[in-house]
Amino acid sequence: MDLFEYQGRDLFERHGLPVLGGGVAETPQEARAIAERLGRVVVKAQVKVGGRGKAGGVKLAADADEAQARASDILGMDIKGHTVHKVMLAETADIADEYYFSYLLDRANRTFLCIASVAGGMEIEQVAEEQPDKVAKIAIDANKGVDAAKAREIVAAAQFPAEVADQVADIAVKLWQTFVAEDATLVEVNPLAKTGNGKVLCLDAKITLDENASFRHPDHEALVDQSAVDPLEQAAKAKDLNYVKLDGEVGIIGNGAGLVMSTLDVVAYAGERHGGVKPANFLDIGGGASAAVMANGLEIVLSDPSVKSVFVNVFGGITACDEVANGIVQALALLEQRGERVTKPLVVRLDGNNAEAGRAILDGANNPLVQRVDTMDGAAERAAELAAAGV
Ligand code: GDP
Ligand code: MN
Repeated sequence: MDLFEYQGRDLFERHGLPVLGGGVAETPQEARAIAERLGRVVVKAQVKVGGRGKAGGVKLAADADEAQARASDILGMDIKGHTVHKVMLAETADIADEYYFSYLLDRANRTFLCIASVAGGMEIEQVAEEQPDKVAKIAIDANKGVDAAKAREIVAAAQFPAEVADQVADIAVKLWQTFVAEDATLVEVNPLAKTGNGKVLCLDAKITLDENASFRHPDHEALVDQSAVDPLEQAAKAKDLNYVKLDGEVGIIGNGAGLVMSTLDVVAYAGERHGGVKPANFLDIGGGASAAVMANGLEIVLSDPSVKSVFVNVFGGITACDEVANGIVQALALLEQRGERVTKPLVVRLDGNNAEAGRAILDGANNPLVQRVDTMDGAAERAAELAAAGV
């Protein structure tokens, strides 16, 4: 999960990193109130994308009047496809030099990495391209981390000037502590700025948290941007379903992530012959899917207004096809009981363990909405055709 800058700034502050005072506002009036408290401020668009400065999303304001006006300019702006709903107001720094500092998970090399540069402010990819000798990359041993000695090694490798060496080393240690304590996969400070009077400050904060560790961080839940959460995905999460909303018309339910991924492919392929219909979602109901899980899955998929047909693709393994077929039949009955009128056609493909028994159960139930097709390609074709007819 990527954080907004103001959330990153708060985490930095909590971990003792040098940041400037700030607040977040959703309206120009709120911005004004913060500026009345802080004085001269920088008004910064809060969007989860870099290059806000260049796009006009970072503006200085001398007083509360100006802060209100700049907030009014920036709120609602579109920055690289992201609409600005919030601005951060922060005390201004008199910047003499801009550096770059980050820690990240380097998957390719199976290690953590520090990237540091005295040429900050601009995007690090650009620095790496134009002045590769100005970008230091130092591998961090996960077991040893960054202590004072490692911090000095980083400072030397990136050739930070002597007058800021101690401050940068201190920041290097605290930033590593932040990275570990918060279970981040990225912490980036750009610019790490030196002010006119020689103080080093973190003036931007970009943090990505590892969602696999969210069970260790109940406080991270509050950092989720609810306005960006898809309501169907939220409902699915509440039911413990592995669901991702997509843009198409064919609802997809399958057991096993690999099978569902390949189902998306065959449906997209079949859709090309049927007016370009596409998969509407990813939903893996996992192995051992009970009638209740199938009912929850169907409920989510069918409640998506863009879904015109549903493809249930099951390969019987540990859970045999007859159990899944019973699950589907019971799930449809369960939905009727819950008062959900099912009107969209379901194409079901059952293969693998006890496939024949499963097919017989579906045929016996004789539900006019359920069509059985025994090959994956054939079922994808039929589901795409039905979706195209329903659009
Ligand atoms: P980004 O462009 O999205 O990375 O946003 P940043 O937070 O890095 O801001 C972009 C640029 O605005 C920085 O590189 C600074 O040059 C400038 N900036 C940010 N905060 C201040 C500040 O407090 N004072 C001054 N003078 N400039 C600032
Ligand atoms: Mn920046």
